[in-house]
Amino acid sequence: MSDYLKPLPKIDELNQAHWRGAQQGRLMVQQCIQCNSYRYPFKKMCTDCHSTEVDWKQVSGKGSIWSWCVFHRPYFKGFEAERPYNVVLVELDEGIRIYSNLVGVKKSEIHIGMRVKACFDAVTSAVTLVKFEKDST
Ligand SMILES: [Zn+2]
Repeated sequence: MSDYLKPLPKIDELNQAHWRGAQQGRLMVQQCIQCNSYRYPFKKMCTDCHSTEVDWKQVSGKGSIWSWCVFHRPYFKGFEAERPYNVVLVELDEGIRIYSNLVGVKKSEIHIGMRVKACFDAVTSAVTLVKFEKDST
């Protein structure tokens, strides 16, 4: 039994390739076989062409902060010790946007357009979360 107190994702048939990839340090997203558009969040059907054919593709994990905020109030007990904590919306270079946390960066440094790259946080034996850190390359 884990003593991790924050909410954990429900891993199912639809998203397991993403979570397995994260455990291996790879950011995996769905890609439509018919029109090549990426699907995120994960869906059974492409919102562009309505195809249900899908493949999983490793993306770069690089992108830019599209939006961000700082939470001061803990909506879940597990976040209490970390507040205030940031939540960022990262636009990957592939065009999809992912909500996550930016780690290792002071609040005063966070800005829209900041270059970031995915990093991986193994929070339990079964779940590795995708987070982001500053990309200085
Ligand atoms: Zn499609």
